[in-house]
Amino acid sequence: MSQLLFGVMGDPISHSLSPQIHQLFAAQFDIQLHYEKIQVPRGQLKHALQMFREKGGRGANVTAPLKEEAFLICQAENSARLAQAVNTLYWNQSNELRGTNTDGLGLCQDLLVNLEWALDGKRILICGAGGATAGILEPLLSHQPVEIVIANRDMTRAKTLVERFNDPALQMSAYEDLHVDFDLIINATSAHLSGASIPLDPNFLKGAACYDLGYSLTITPFCELAKTHGAKAVSDGLGMLIEQAALGFEIWHGVKPNTSRVRGILRSNA
Ligand code: NDP
Repeated sequence: MSQLLFGVMGDPISHSLSPQIHQLFAAQFDIQLHYEKIQVPRGQLKHALQMFREKGGRGANVTAPLKEEAFLICQAENSARLAQAVNTLYWNQSNELRGTNTDGLGLCQDLLVNLEWALDGKRILICGAGGATAGILEPLLSHQPVEIVIANRDMTRAKTLVERFNDPALQMSAYEDLHVDFDLIINATSAHLSGASIPLDPNFLKGAACYDLGYSLTITPFCELAKTHGAKAVSDGLGMLIEQAALGFEIWHGVKPNTSRVRGILRSNA
Protein backbone atom coordinates (compact mmCIF):
# COMPACT_ATOMS: atom_id res chain seq x y z
CA MET A 1 0.00 0.00 0.00
CA SER A 2 1.40 3.47 -0.85
CA GLN A 3 2.12 5.87 2.00
CA LEU A 4 -0.16 8.84 2.64
CA LEU A 5 1.71 12.16 2.94
CA PHE A 6 1.11 14.56 5.85
CA GLY A 7 3.30 17.12 7.61
CA VAL A 8 3.70 19.92 10.13
CA MET A 9 4.82 23.43 9.14
CA GLY A 10 6.28 26.09 11.42
CA ASP A 11 9.42 28.05 12.26
CA PRO A 12 11.29 26.68 14.15
CA ILE A 13 10.10 23.11 13.60
CA SER A 14 12.94 20.77 14.54
CA HIS A 15 11.58 20.37 18.11
CA SER A 16 8.16 19.12 16.95
CA LEU A 17 6.95 15.74 18.22
CA SER A 18 4.02 15.66 15.78
CA PRO A 19 5.66 13.15 13.40
CA GLN A 20 6.18 10.63 16.24
CA ILE A 21 2.64 11.15 17.52
CA HIS A 22 1.01 10.67 14.11
CA GLN A 23 3.11 7.57 13.43
CA LEU A 24 2.08 6.08 16.80
CA PHE A 25 -1.59 6.80 16.01
CA ALA A 26 -1.23 5.33 12.50
CA ALA A 27 0.28 2.14 13.92
CA GLN A 28 -2.91 1.64 15.99
CA PHE A 29 -4.85 1.22 12.71
CA ASP A 30 -2.17 -0.21 10.39
CA ILE A 31 -2.29 3.03 8.38
CA GLN A 32 0.89 3.63 6.34
CA LEU A 33 1.82 7.29 6.37
CA HIS A 34 4.76 9.58 5.85
CA TYR A 35 4.67 12.66 8.13
CA GLU A 36 7.27 15.40 7.51
CA LYS A 37 8.54 18.40 9.49
CA ILE A 38 8.73 21.38 7.14
CA GLN A 39 10.37 24.65 8.17
CA VAL A 40 8.27 27.51 6.75
CA PRO A 41 9.10 31.13 7.58
CA ARG A 42 6.30 33.65 8.18
CA GLY A 43 4.76 34.83 4.88
CA GLN A 44 5.59 31.67 2.93
CA LEU A 45 2.87 29.25 4.02
CA LYS A 46 0.78 29.50 0.84
CA HIS A 47 3.75 28.67 -1.36
CA ALA A 48 4.90 25.86 0.95
CA LEU A 49 1.43 24.30 0.88
CA GLN A 50 1.28 24.48 -2.93
CA MET A 51 4.59 22.61 -3.17
CA PHE A 52 3.44 20.09 -0.56
CA ARG A 53 0.17 19.45 -2.43
CA GLU A 54 2.05 19.00 -5.72
CA LYS A 55 4.08 16.18 -4.20
CA GLY A 56 0.93 14.45 -2.92
CA GLY A 57 0.30 16.06 0.50
CA ARG A 58 -3.13 15.24 1.95
CA GLY A 59 -3.10 17.47 5.03
CA ALA A 60 -0.84 19.49 7.29
CA ASN A 61 -0.60 20.74 10.83
CA VAL A 62 0.43 24.36 11.32
CA THR A 63 2.30 25.64 14.34
CA ALA A 64 3.91 28.90 15.53
CA PRO A 65 4.10 31.44 13.96
CA LEU A 66 1.80 30.42 11.08
CA LYS A 67 -1.66 29.77 12.56
CA GLU A 68 -3.10 33.18 11.72
CA GLU A 69 -1.54 33.10 8.25
CA ALA A 70 -3.13 29.67 7.69
CA PHE A 71 -6.55 31.14 8.50
CA LEU A 72 -6.14 33.73 5.74
CA ILE A 73 -5.45 31.21 2.98
CA CYS A 74 -7.99 28.45 3.65
CA GLN A 75 -11.73 27.99 4.04
CA ALA A 76 -12.02 28.00 7.80
CA GLU A 77 -14.45 25.67 9.57
CA ASN A 78 -16.07 25.65 13.03
CA SER A 79 -13.75 26.69 15.81
CA ALA A 80 -11.19 28.26 13.47
CA ARG A 81 -13.64 30.99 12.40
CA LEU A 82 -13.81 32.89 15.69
CA ALA A 83 -10.21 32.05 16.53
CA GLN A 84 -9.06 33.26 13.09
CA ALA A 85 -6.26 30.75 13.62
CA VAL A 86 -5.89 27.30 12.08
CA ASN A 87 -3.82 24.33 13.22
CA THR A 88 -5.15 21.55 10.96
CA LEU A 89 -5.42 21.78 7.18
CA TYR A 90 -6.63 19.30 4.56
CA TRP A 91 -7.71 19.27 0.95
CA ASN A 92 -11.27 18.04 0.38
CA GLN A 93 -12.50 16.03 -2.60
CA SER A 94 -12.95 19.25 -4.63
CA ASN A 95 -9.28 20.08 -3.89
CA GLU A 96 -10.30 23.01 -1.65
CA LEU A 97 -8.00 23.77 1.25
CA ARG A 98 -10.03 23.56 4.47
CA GLY A 99 -8.82 24.54 7.92
CA THR A 100 -9.94 23.95 11.47
CA ASN A 101 -8.55 24.43 14.95
CA THR A 102 -8.29 21.55 17.40
CA ASP A 103 -6.02 23.31 19.94
CA GLY A 104 -8.73 24.45 22.36
CA LEU A 105 -10.58 21.14 22.48
CA GLY A 106 -7.25 19.37 22.87
CA LEU A 107 -6.27 21.63 25.77
CA CYS A 108 -9.62 21.21 27.54
CA GLN A 109 -9.43 17.42 27.13
CA ASP A 110 -5.98 17.43 28.74
CA LEU A 111 -6.93 19.84 31.55
CA LEU A 112 -10.31 18.37 32.44
CA VAL A 113 -9.98 14.67 31.64
CA ASN A 114 -6.30 13.74 31.79
CA LEU A 115 -5.18 16.11 34.58
CA GLU A 116 -8.60 16.49 36.27
CA TRP A 117 -8.10 20.24 36.81
CA ALA A 118 -11.31 22.33 36.99
CA LEU A 119 -12.15 25.40 34.90
CA ASP A 120 -15.59 26.49 36.07
CA GLY A 121 -15.50 29.29 38.63
CA LYS A 122 -11.72 29.70 38.23
CA ARG A 123 -9.59 32.78 37.57
CA ILE A 124 -7.35 32.10 34.59
CA LEU A 125 -4.33 34.03 33.34
CA ILE A 126 -3.13 33.39 29.79
CA CYS A 127 0.35 34.71 28.97
CA GLY A 128 0.58 35.39 25.23
CA ALA A 129 -1.87 36.58 22.59
CA GLY A 130 -0.77 34.73 19.46
CA GLY A 131 -2.40 32.03 17.37
CA ALA A 132 -2.37 29.49 20.18
CA THR A 133 -4.23 31.82 22.56
CA ALA A 134 -6.79 32.62 19.84
CA GLY A 135 -7.39 28.88 19.42
CA ILE A 136 -7.94 28.06 23.09
CA LEU A 137 -10.18 30.97 24.15
CA GLU A 138 -13.57 29.76 22.93
CA PRO A 139 -13.38 26.27 24.50
CA LEU A 140 -11.95 27.71 27.76
CA LEU A 141 -14.72 30.34 27.97
CA SER A 142 -17.35 27.65 27.37
CA HIS A 143 -16.34 26.04 30.69
CA GLN A 144 -17.51 29.11 32.66
CA PRO A 145 -14.39 30.48 34.36
CA VAL A 146 -14.97 33.60 36.52
CA GLU A 147 -12.47 35.43 34.35
CA ILE A 148 -9.74 34.96 31.79
CA VAL A 149 -7.06 37.67 31.68
CA ILE A 150 -4.75 37.84 28.67
CA ALA A 151 -1.31 39.35 29.35
CA ASN A 152 0.94 40.13 26.41
CA ARG A 153 3.89 42.40 25.62
CA ASP A 154 2.12 43.75 22.54
CA MET A 155 -1.20 44.96 23.97
CA THR A 156 -2.76 45.56 20.55
CA ARG A 157 -2.76 41.77 19.96
CA ALA A 158 -4.46 41.20 23.32
CA LYS A 159 -7.01 43.95 22.59
CA THR A 160 -7.87 42.42 19.22
CA LEU A 161 -8.69 39.09 20.90
CA VAL A 162 -10.71 40.67 23.74
CA GLU A 163 -12.78 42.68 21.24
CA ARG A 164 -13.30 39.75 18.88
CA PHE A 165 -14.40 37.25 21.55
CA ASN A 166 -16.52 39.91 23.28
CA ASP A 167 -17.19 37.96 26.48
CA PRO A 168 -17.67 39.71 29.86
CA ALA A 169 -15.34 37.16 31.48
CA LEU A 170 -12.48 38.07 29.11
CA GLN A 171 -10.07 40.87 30.12
CA MET A 172 -6.56 41.96 29.29
CA SER A 173 -3.67 43.41 31.25
CA ALA A 174 -0.08 44.42 30.79
CA TYR A 175 2.24 42.05 32.68
CA GLU A 176 3.28 44.83 35.06
CA ASP A 177 -0.35 45.73 35.89
CA LEU A 178 -1.49 42.23 36.94
CA HIS A 179 -2.77 42.27 40.51
CA VAL A 180 -5.12 39.41 41.41
CA ASP A 181 -4.18 35.83 42.22
CA PHE A 182 -5.01 33.23 39.60
CA ASP A 183 -6.13 29.62 40.01
CA LEU A 184 -4.71 28.60 36.63
CA ILE A 185 -1.84 30.21 34.71
CA ILE A 186 -1.35 29.14 31.10
CA ASN A 187 1.89 29.97 29.33
CA ALA A 188 0.88 30.39 25.68
CA THR A 189 3.96 32.33 24.63
CA SER A 190 6.65 31.10 22.28
CA ALA A 191 9.36 32.56 24.55
CA HIS A 192 10.89 29.12 25.15
CA LEU A 193 11.54 28.66 21.43
CA SER A 194 14.13 31.45 21.60
CA GLY A 195 15.38 30.55 25.09
CA ALA A 196 13.77 33.71 26.56
CA SER A 197 11.71 33.97 29.73
CA ILE A 198 8.39 35.77 30.06
CA PRO A 199 8.02 39.06 31.95
CA LEU A 200 5.62 37.57 34.54
CA ASP A 201 6.32 38.20 38.24
CA PRO A 202 7.00 34.61 39.43
CA ASN A 203 5.16 35.33 42.69
CA PHE A 204 1.92 34.82 40.71
CA LEU A 205 2.90 31.16 40.23
CA LYS A 206 2.70 30.35 43.94
CA GLY A 207 -0.37 28.23 44.72
CA ALA A 208 -1.60 28.27 41.11
CA ALA A 209 -2.01 25.36 38.73
CA CYS A 210 0.48 26.15 35.96
CA TYR A 211 0.17 24.82 32.42
CA ASP A 212 2.80 25.37 29.74
CA LEU A 213 1.62 25.00 26.16
CA GLY A 214 5.27 24.39 25.38
CA TYR A 215 6.41 20.82 25.77
CA SER A 216 9.56 18.84 25.98
CA LEU A 217 10.52 15.31 26.95
CA THR A 218 12.34 16.89 29.91
CA ILE A 219 10.90 19.67 32.12
CA THR A 220 10.19 22.98 30.33
CA PRO A 221 11.67 26.24 31.72
CA PHE A 222 8.17 27.54 32.63
CA CYS A 223 7.28 24.33 34.51
CA GLU A 224 10.63 24.46 36.28
CA LEU A 225 10.01 28.08 37.30
CA ALA A 226 6.49 27.22 38.48
CA LYS A 227 7.74 24.32 40.60
CA THR A 228 10.47 26.45 42.13
CA HIS A 229 7.96 29.16 43.07
CA GLY A 230 5.46 26.85 44.80
CA ALA A 231 2.89 26.13 42.09
CA LYS A 232 0.05 23.87 43.24
CA ALA A 233 0.35 21.68 40.16
CA VAL A 234 2.40 21.83 36.97
CA SER A 235 2.03 20.37 33.50
CA ASP A 236 3.61 20.93 30.13
CA GLY A 237 1.63 20.84 26.88
CA LEU A 238 2.51 17.32 25.74
CA GLY A 239 -0.96 16.07 26.69
CA MET A 240 -2.58 18.90 24.72
CA LEU A 241 -0.30 18.23 21.76
CA ILE A 242 -1.40 14.60 21.69
CA GLU A 243 -5.09 15.44 22.15
CA GLN A 244 -5.15 18.12 19.42
CA ALA A 245 -3.26 15.73 17.14
CA ALA A 246 -5.82 12.99 17.82
CA LEU A 247 -8.67 15.31 16.78
CA GLY A 248 -6.76 16.19 13.59
CA PHE A 249 -6.01 12.50 12.94
CA GLU A 250 -9.72 11.75 13.18
CA ILE A 251 -10.49 14.49 10.62
CA TRP A 252 -7.86 13.12 8.22
CA HIS A 253 -8.40 9.37 8.65
CA GLY A 254 -11.92 9.03 10.09
CA VAL A 255 -10.79 7.01 13.13
CA LYS A 256 -10.20 8.07 16.75
CA PRO A 257 -6.83 7.02 18.18
CA ASN A 258 -6.10 6.01 21.76
CA THR A 259 -4.25 8.99 23.27
CA SER A 260 -3.34 7.64 26.72
CA ARG A 261 -1.29 4.86 25.14
CA VAL A 262 0.68 7.43 23.10
CA ARG A 263 1.15 9.68 26.15
CA GLY A 264 2.58 6.72 28.06
CA ILE A 265 5.01 5.85 25.26
CA LEU A 266 6.29 9.43 24.85
CA ARG A 267 6.63 10.05 28.60
CA SER A 268 8.52 6.80 29.01
CA ASN A 269 10.99 8.01 26.35
CA ALA A 270 11.87 11.03 28.53
P1 NDP B 1 2.69 33.07 17.93
O1 NDP B 1 3.99 33.30 17.24
O2 NDP B 1 1.41 33.29 17.19
O3 NDP B 1 2.62 34.00 19.25
C1 NDP B 1 3.71 34.04 20.13
C2 NDP B 1 3.29 34.69 21.45
O4 NDP B 1 4.39 34.56 22.35
C3 NDP B 1 2.99 36.17 21.34
O5 NDP B 1 1.95 36.50 22.23
C4 NDP B 1 4.30 36.83 21.79
O6 NDP B 1 4.13 38.10 22.39
C5 NDP B 1 4.70 35.85 22.87
N1 NDP B 1 6.14 35.91 23.18
C6 NDP B 1 7.17 35.47 22.42
N2 NDP B 1 8.35 35.67 23.07
C7 NDP B 1 8.04 36.24 24.27
C8 NDP B 1 8.80 36.67 25.38
N3 NDP B 1 10.13 36.57 25.41
N4 NDP B 1 8.15 37.20 26.45
C9 NDP B 1 6.79 37.31 26.45
N5 NDP B 1 6.01 36.91 25.40
C10 NDP B 1 6.62 36.38 24.33
O7 NDP B 1 2.78 31.59 18.51
P2 NDP B 1 1.56 30.62 18.89
O8 NDP B 1 0.58 31.42 19.66
O9 NDP B 1 1.08 29.88 17.71
O10 NDP B 1 2.29 29.53 19.82
C11 NDP B 1 2.72 29.87 21.13
C12 NDP B 1 3.35 28.65 21.78
O11 NDP B 1 2.38 27.65 22.09
C13 NDP B 1 4.40 27.95 20.92
O12 NDP B 1 5.50 27.68 21.74
C14 NDP B 1 3.76 26.67 20.49
O13 NDP B 1 4.72 25.63 20.35
C15 NDP B 1 2.86 26.38 21.69
N6 NDP B 1 1.71 25.56 21.32
C16 NDP B 1 1.59 24.30 21.86
C17 NDP B 1 0.52 23.52 21.54
C18 NDP B 1 0.37 22.17 22.16
O14 NDP B 1 -0.40 21.37 21.62
N7 NDP B 1 1.04 21.89 23.26
C19 NDP B 1 -0.52 23.96 20.60
C20 NDP B 1 -0.32 25.31 20.15
C21 NDP B 1 0.78 26.05 20.47
P3 NDP B 1 4.11 39.47 21.52
O15 NDP B 1 2.82 39.45 20.75
O16 NDP B 1 4.15 40.52 22.56
O17 NDP B 1 5.33 39.40 20.63
